[in-house]
Amino acid sequence: MAKKIVSDLQLKDKKVLVRVDFNVPMKDGSITNDNRIVEALPTIKYIIEQGGKAILFSHLGKVKTEEDKEKLSLAPVAKRLSELLEKEVTFVPETRGEKLESAIDQLKSGDVLLFENTRFEDLDGKKESKNDPELGKYWASLGDVFVNDAFGTAHRAHASNVGVASNLESAAGFLMEKEIKFIGDVVANPERPFVAILGGAKVSDKIGVIENLLNVADKILIGGGMAYTFLKAQGKEIGQSLLEEDKIDLANDLLARANGKIVLPVDGLVTKEFSNDGEIKAVSVDEIPQDLQSLDIGPKTIELFKSELQGAKTVVWNGPMGVFEMSNFAKGTIGVCEAIAELSDATTIIGGGDSAAAAMQLGFAEKFTHISTGGGASLEYLEGKVLPGIDSISEK
Ligand code: ADP
Ligand code: MG
Repeated sequence: MAKKIVSDLQLKDKKVLVRVDFNVPMKDGSITNDNRIVEALPTIKYIIEQGGKAILFSHLGKVKTEEDKEKLSLAPVAKRLSELLEKEVTFVPETRGEKLESAIDQLKSGDVLLFENTRFEDLDGKKESKNDPELGKYWASLGDVFVNDAFGTAHRAHASNVGVASNLESAAGFLMEKEIKFIGDVVANPERPFVAILGGAKVSDKIGVIENLLNVADKILIGGGMAYTFLKAQGKEIGQSLLEEDKIDLANDLLARANGKIVLPVDGLVTKEFSNDGEIKAVSVDEIPQDLQSLDIGPKTIELFKSELQGAKTVVWNGPMGVFEMSNFAKGTIGVCEAIAELSDATTIIGGGDSAAAAMQLGFAEKFTHISTGGGASLEYLEGKVLPGIDSISEK
């Protein structure tokens, strides 16, 4: 079931359609973080080096009204891409039609073109987001082969990924290849011991991930806000800590099925207000005062999690251990980052929007084997779901 990779394709003189993820954060018409453009460069450069004509496209934000079009144009992205590639990038401010077609006809081998935000098509009956078959077919008609490098949208069946792939020979770009290799293959067939670490705000966001990892992981360490619903399920008093009342039964059921695989915090950092500035103390989870809330795992839990991680060969982590956005409650997340950094000879993967941001912000980006680029897509992939964007890529 191996998917074709861009390096399996004949690219010379071919019109190569490339679905990239240029859904970058923008403020007042400027790009505030160009990471996604940087991440797409290896695939684009490879296509150019092979003598292909790269025809790039992506969505940007959600286009709901005519007025959205101005602030959601990909024009600034074309400019930034051109700087990063140190070469001209032709930008076509259309998603279809004569102007686009003639610009593509004029491309020479090694040229790069970017056309406008695919979601401009959503103004006319959500053609992009609902995978209108005519639209996918039309875009496919513009090229000879298709490369999908947009992992961030792989959990959605849109015209610009699934639609194009259903009409043309297709392959994964290098970024997509990494995600398939690290999340897909590792979760399907991990080297053991396989330790999963789950945290973040809510149990309800992560039910699918817990259920799937319960089947494949040897241990699941649970921290973050979601831990307190589990502790409550064990009959503990959790004070004002985050609780999902309606998930207590589910937590109980998961604990029963886990057969000792789930490891919960033994202490937490408690404080009165949701603030970085109040009085903070570390207390056992058996002694959380009624009027306080726990915003991070405590020092004993960091040690416990460190010892559970010893000797792990595969580590998958989703969800911060505490409210890492406030420095006093970033200690647990830092401690787990450090424990992972010390592992020799392990494949370590972090996925999820806030988790990836935490690892980068805290300076541990280099310490992981793989930081997944997709938020929702990473989660659904960790749930063991088939992602339509990947599924639609041609088999080798
Ligand atoms: P991801 O985006 O990686 O999937 P989530 O969105 O599930 O992660 O969770 C991230 C959020 O969880 C962070 O904003 C963090 O502040 C919050 N969080 C972590 N621990 C706690 C806690 N003990 N109490 C409240 N919020 C928490
Ligand atoms: Mg999040």
